[in-house]
Amino acid sequence: MSKSKHTPENMQDLLRKLPAVDTLLEQISNDRNYSEVPRSVLINSIRKSTGELRDAIRSNPAGFSESELAPSTIHKRIYEKIKAAMSENLRYLINATGVVVHTNLGRSLLAQDAARHVMEAATRYSNLEFDLATGKRGSRYTAVEDILCEISGAEAGMVVNNNAAAVLLALDTLAKDREVIVSRGELVEIGGAFRIPDIMAKSGGILKEVGTTNRTHLRDYEQAINEKTGLLLKVHTSNFAIVGFSASVSLEDMVALGSNHGLPVMEDLGSGTFIDFKKHGLMKEPTVQESIAAGVDVVTFSGDKLLGGPQGGILLGSKQIMDKIKKNPLTRALRIDKLSLAALETTLRFYRDEATAITAIPTLYMLTSPLSHIQEKAEQLYRKLSGIGDVRLNTNLIDSVSKAGGGSFPLLEIPTRCVTIRIDGMSASKIDMRLRKNSPPVIGRIEDEAFIMDMRTVMTDEIDIIHTAVTGLLDRD
Ligand SMILES: *Cc1c(COP(=O)(O)O)cnc(C)c1O
Repeated sequence: MSKSKHTPENMQDLLRKLPAVDTLLEQISNDRNYSEVPRSVLINSIRKSTGELRDAIRSNPAGFSESELAPSTIHKRIYEKIKAAMSENLRYLINATGVVVHTNLGRSLLAQDAARHVMEAATRYSNLEFDLATGKRGSRYTAVEDILCEISGAEAGMVVNNNAAAVLLALDTLAKDREVIVSRGELVEIGGAFRIPDIMAKSGGILKEVGTTNRTHLRDYEQAINEKTGLLLKVHTSNFAIVGFSASVSLEDMVALGSNHGLPVMEDLGSGTFIDFKKHGLMKEPTVQESIAAGVDVVTFSGDKLLGGPQGGILLGSKQIMDKIKKNPLTRALRIDKLSLAALETTLRFYRDEATAITAIPTLYMLTSPLSHIQEKAEQLYRKLSGIGDVRLNTNLIDSVSKAGGGSFPLLEIPTRCVTIRIDGMSASKIDMRLRKNSPPVIGRIEDEAFIMDMRTVMTDEIDIIHTAVTGLLDRD
């Protein structure tokens, strides 16, 4: 092989040495391992690979190593692209972050029975919008309206695609071109660019801020009411808390004020729960039942945060207001799909009995898991990793705290147990990166130059997978 001069003049030379797509296609097609791969995938993978090489040559011909052009090296690059293209993009991973309702990792896991219902709704026809009693067209909301009213005490309810949609729909119905009074302490931004002022603008409601960031009083709402007022809105601050010198107005007081002035009152609960978490050793989160009992006209919340169901937005309230909302043409654009509806129905039914809900719904189970149970999982993993018996691997058990996530319990830190790993000659960020590339990926966090796995969100049958992944880290190095 001629020795490269590493000068810009040989750029053309290098580019000429890049094999043609057709040549590579013929070589790869002859490889029996890839005979089942669709031609479009082969061609795309080859084009991407040669494109990358061409860019690398052009951007820095002097620094380009000619060994990259060896047929076996190019083939390896192409095989990696084929592998990536042939595996699904949305993939199962192990959540070792300890954040139970992790929005980026899929929020809530469904209960087994809810997943069974999804499977059935997916693979069989159903009475989605068909009334079995009359043989006529029915409403998709009937599947969950009864159970929602039963467990919440509300007169009526419906569900849409998510809580952002529920808020938009309620505001569009109740406050279009009217002023909506909101406390300055509640103008929240939820992750993913959901901001109360923005959603208000989209709905056509006119935001009327009252009070201050830390203190808002009933008289602030009262003084803001005028002939243009359409709605009083309370928003659960979800992902942050104002502590110290603070004051906010109770929902009861807002309802009383609203009824004095003939104005509806809406609450965006955000997460929404039917369970008093305080009874289970966590912190108090306002419950849906309390909002209904306080006389709110409409309350909205998510299906997949603390509720532990599928993505969805639930609206509950008085029959009169819900009837109005149900007639809004936007409902068609925001409607919930049948798979989510199936999962939601089964999830809601568990709430008839709190003890059942807590054992059956993974989100509730993980949040309320006794420390001893997490400790058991941590010790199991710790023993397995110690059993690898590699002197480079240093593993430990530590106390830490888990977060609930999902814009709930911002101040809550739940005691937990974690397994940490350090590897001589491998940085924590390298461990993190390699475990992210594992199949399935293992997602943890880095602290004090160690990779940390919070066992609260790791399932027992995932311990062996982590063990294999860590063993692999040591093999390759
Ligand atoms: C999470 C949240 C939303 C958005 O709910 P999604 O179900 O994610 O659409 C809206 N309002 C509040 C207060 C929230 O916490």
